[in-house]
Amino acid sequence: MPLALIARDARPLPAEAEYDTIVIMQTIITITHDQTEYTLPCTILRSRRKTCAITIDEDANIVFRVPSRATNRQIMQLAKEKSRWIITHYLEACARKNSRPHSDLSDVQRTALENRYKEAARSYIPRRVAYYHAVTGGSYKRITIRDQKTRWGSCSSKGTLSFSWRLMLAPPAILDYVVVHELCHLTHMNHSPAFWQAVEAVYPDWQNARKWLKEHGCELVL
Ligand SMILES: [Zn+2]
Repeated sequence: MPLALIARDARPLPAEAEYDTIVIMQTIITITHDQTEYTLPCTILRSRRKTCAITIDEDANIVFRVPSRATNRQIMQLAKEKSRWIITHYLEACARKNSRPHSDLSDVQRTALENRYKEAARSYIPRRVAYYHAVTGGSYKRITIRDQKTRWGSCSSKGTLSFSWRLMLAPPAILDYVVVHELCHLTHMNHSPAFWQAVEAVYPDWQNARKWLKEHGCELVL
């Protein structure tokens, strides 16, 4: 059976309405890695799909998505074959999860705060874009503010610049890096050496900014 392995999966589990075609089962798999035995809870989703996929999301949930005819034995065999991949990504996800700031906010409080940040982003980010645009050139049509946890900015071929409001939680210099990065995509729609040269001309410290986002991006939550 063809197999896909997906770490940092963002897909939610199917909603209740889809239950008629999907069977959900909780189970435990045991994996030995570096002489340590790990007992990992995981979810098995049986549906009408034809291929298998193992996904591990940001909260370290392990999900096996398999065809309805797949037997438990086949699934366990799959887990065994891919144990190295599973444990590596599981431990990475746990580490990221534990380094996230702990929040005591209620959902209502979080939503209220997020709305304030979004509002602030809608006025602050376009000003930073205008500031750097004078140097980078290129032309854009509009700026949208989104709610994304791992994608900080994007630039569409139609000239839409998008930014995650969560950048408002990062140091201002990091936000500026993302702005410069996306603005440079207006001229270079790729990550070619020419693109990075354009970024560097405006933002010489781009490598550290990029590294910061990789290491601390998961902390940009309320
Ligand atoms: Zn890019």
